[in-house]
Amino acid sequence: MHIVQVGMEYDVLKENNKIANSNYRLLKEKGIKTIEFMGSIGAGKTALIIKLAERMREKGLRVCAIAGDVTGDDDQRRMKESGLESVNCNTGHECHLDANLVRKSLDKMDLDRYDVILIENVGNLVCPADFPLGADYRVVVISTTEGDDMVRKHHDIFLHSDVAILNKMDIADAVGVDPAVIFDDYKKLTGGLKAMYGCSTRTEGGMDEIMSVLGL
Ligand code: MG
Ligand code: ZN
Repeated sequence: MHIVQVGMEYDVLKENNKIANSNYRLLKEKGIKTIEFMGSIGAGKTALIIKLAERMREKGLRVCAIAGDVTGDDDQRRMKESGLESVNCNTGHECHLDANLVRKSLDKMDLDRYDVILIENVGNLVCPADFPLGADYRVVVISTTEGDDMVRKHHDIFLHSDVAILNKMDIADAVGVDPAVIFDDYKKLTGGLKAMYGCSTRTEGGMDEIMSVLGL
């Protein structure tokens, strides 16, 4: 039984990767830069996307978001209220987006109208790691309120992402977390090859650096 399950899982991942490659090619043909945001519920993914999108629009970039959630359209409504165009993408039961769901969202959009697409994954730090969607950058967002052990507990998501962000730097003291511990864990995990960037979507500290890391 266990062997069968492993085999099925392998096929599912292989099929996902195939569609992710096709998404990537489609987005490149259209000249679109795509950035995926992963992280727990409450890490601040939606707020970060909204703030980054505001900066992108100021630079004249045409931006659209895909709001991934198990159910509901709360994030999409927040995006719309901020002036960010977006498509809602509910997974129904799954705790992660997959490349096929993203493809269906892309099919609903007029891709000639956008320069950048921001994808918000479902709040989850585990399985999104295994399901690439076809984005140029995979960004993982954690926050100081989640404690100082996030990197030690979730190796896969940090190893499968291109950029790591520590949000809510402004309240680190208040929640008794030393960001240096988290930055240090990340440095050890990635062999010092990648840096983690601190920010606060509330004070907007660190946002310029994130824009430049993402080539924007
Ligand atoms: Mg959200
Ligand atoms: Zn999942």
